[in-house]
Amino acid sequence: MNNLDFRIFKRYKPEYAKCVNCGAAGTLKKYRSRGLVDNIAKIFLLKKFFCKNCQWKGRYFTVKLTKHWLRAVLFYLIAIAGTIFIIYNYLERFL
Ligand SMILES: [Zn+2]
Repeated sequence: MNNLDFRIFKRYKPEYAKCVNCGAAGTLKKYRSRGLVDNIAKIFLLKKFFCKNCQWKGRYFTVKLTKHWLRAVLFYLIAIAGTIFIIYNYLERFL
């Protein structure tokens, strides 16, 4: 895998995933969202799907954590902490 991959999330398409109920692959279809609950769920990247095979209905996240998400988070935290440290030192010297 690419060692310079610092993404925390990646796109995920439940259309190609297996149905959690019947285990059939490629049977999930996007459901049209309507109503307040669906719209709130959409903000959190939860989308409604239904299975053409077993009629199962449910919500799936359309993003997933990458394999190296923890490393990416640590990298960003260190970068942010370093930036704060530099700015703090700089300000202390001149104020
Ligand atoms: Zn199914």
